[in-house]
Amino acid sequence: MIRADRGTEPTVLSSKKAAWDNAVAEARTKQAKKAAFAKVRHQQIRTALEEAFHGKCAYCESKIKHVSYTQIEHYRPVSKRQDLAFCWDNLLLACGRCNGAEFKGDQFPEADADGPLLDPCSDDPTDHLDFVFDPVAGLTTVAPRTLRGQVTVRTLGLNRPDLRTYRSSCIGKLAVLAMLASEHADCAALLAEAQRGDAEYSAFARALSASTEGPPGTAAD
Ligand SMILES: [Zn+2]
Repeated sequence: MIRADRGTEPTVLSSKKAAWDNAVAEARTKQAKKAAFAKVRHQQIRTALEEAFHGKCAYCESKIKHVSYTQIEHYRPVSKRQDLAFCWDNLLLACGRCNGAEFKGDQFPEADADGPLLDPCSDDPTDHLDFVFDPVAGLTTVAPRTLRGQVTVRTLGLNRPDLRTYRSSCIGKLAVLAMLASEHADCAALLAEAQRGDAEYSAFARALSASTEGPPGTAAD
């Protein structure tokens, strides 16, 4: 997870929000309500979020579009905050795993449960999370520094095994580049590319810079 800027509210949202809110309020059946909420999946909104988050999940930083459809995620779920269904500041781009019932789903721990969850558009994730690569085990870990970080990692499954395995494979290769970066400009350039906001798992790539000081095989401090 990295800090992100969702940018300007799409015009369709500002112009239709009131009508869409009314349709939700007037929906009398579960099916009608579901159809009313679905207005948020307008292509203009999806495109704006895909651009803001570079086609990546706002939570786990996995690229989505090449293997699946992006999901428009309500940071505060509509099951708890219907009034925020069409609020631009409540919308994120997410993958189906972070956003699915197995992980976040309709969960939203509030302050009384060590929340709220980290919001990449208003919180700096590095205030709450460390992105650690252990070169001996070859494993990446999102390590909480705060209670909010802890509840975020747990709720979103940010160290779930399949994500962790794939992410560790990517970051393991970058760790080699990081060790060579001070002496090889091409390695430094590749590392810098991996640290850009549009790169997968850039939070981990950015954290690797701290490990370039030591000899090969040493852990990041
Ligand atoms: Zn995700």
